[in-house]
Amino acid sequence: MTKPLLEIKSLYVNYGAIQALIDTNLVVNEGEIVTLIGANGAGKSTTLRAISRLINPFKGQIIYNGQDITRTRPDQVVNLGIAQSPEGRRVLARQTVLTNLELGAYTRSDRLGIKADIERQFLTFPRLGERRNQLAGTLSGGEQQMLAIARAVMSRPKLLLLDEPSLGLAPQVVREIFSVIRQLNASGVTILLVEQNASLALQTADRGYVLEAGHLTLTGSASELLKDERVRKAYLG
Ligand code: ATP
Repeated sequence: MTKPLLEIKSLYVNYGAIQALIDTNLVVNEGEIVTLIGANGAGKSTTLRAISRLINPFKGQIIYNGQDITRTRPDQVVNLGIAQSPEGRRVLARQTVLTNLELGAYTRSDRLGIKADIERQFLTFPRLGERRNQLAGTLSGGEQQMLAIARAVMSRPKLLLLDEPSLGLAPQVVREIFSVIRQLNASGVTILLVEQNASLALQTADRGYVLEAGHLTLTGSASELLKDERVRKAYLG
């Protein structure tokens, strides 16, 4: 049975005079990978930032696990089980891989559990394990992306928000990262994936939404969207 984990209801977000999201309605069911695709500036990152509560919506509702989180504090949202891996990776360049992972668990207090989860990240991403004491700023782009995802996973999220995990990375690294995204989903993590690489995103996701200049214009199963003439023309080249 499908159960909504996240429901966005008629959400509006403004940056001053710029309307970044207009009457956005979106559902992510428990266990799904849902992708949000769209051109530069369509409002994809804004949607994720509103869910993580890094920006305040002007109007509308965000319901997570049946609870209204529209005005909840960002740290409380993490505690409830939502984690975001931001665009551009944003790892702490002057801190080690290990410290970055520890910081991902900042809302937790179970020391042993945190230690075990760090080792688990190193099994998932052996390259991070080999570089555990290296400063994050010295990692390659792909390794930084892996670290950003591993850091988000350290809060033990039920819902993982991924912002452009393929951005600027070589195809082999992208394949590795998307294989981990599928593994995480198979282990029970629900995923909302923002991507400019629409083809890859739709091949990975169960369902998708298309966002154009702040408006959701299309939605459907990933296979339907892959076949859709409008999607093919605008996003699949
Ligand atoms: P990208 O892939 O380029 O990040 P996006 O679909 O994620 O694109 P958003 O970053 O959500 O798009 O931006 C949506 C709109 O809001 C754009 O017009 C953008 O210029 C504007 N915007 C985003 N952040 C800010 C900000 N901090 N201040 C003002 N305008 C902003």
